[in-house]
Amino acid sequence: MEKELTPEQYHIMREKGTEPAFSGKYLENKEKGMYLCAACGQELFSSDTKYESGTGWPSFFKPASDKSVQTEPDKSLGMERTEVKCSRCGVHLGHVFDDGPKSVSNGRQATGKRFCINSLALDFKEDK
Ligand code: FE
Repeated sequence: MEKELTPEQYHIMREKGTEPAFSGKYLENKEKGMYLCAACGQELFSSDTKYESGTGWPSFFKPASDKSVQTEPDKSLGMERTEVKCSRCGVHLGHVFDDGPKSVSNGRQATGKRFCINSLALDFKEDK
């Protein structure tokens, strides 16, 4: 079920763009629920793994499941980064870094990873 993307979403998800820091609609979202791929609807990240990274993009320490995302090396813009893609439809979501938290508030165990994800690549399904 491929959804129609806005031009802004197309730029992020198909052209591997990055939304401006602190611009995304999910940056401050603290509701409980599941973040979905904006292109295909696959479940990507649970709100339970979202944390405040201070970077200006929604940040998660773990995908919803081992199979939610795929990663691959990205050497664009003169940087060595690891790209994060939707494992089902392959669109660009963001990058993953090793400077994530080892634990977060409420004593939740984290992973040390920081999945830095564009709000424009996500939809949010609130827990009812
Ligand atoms: Fe997808």
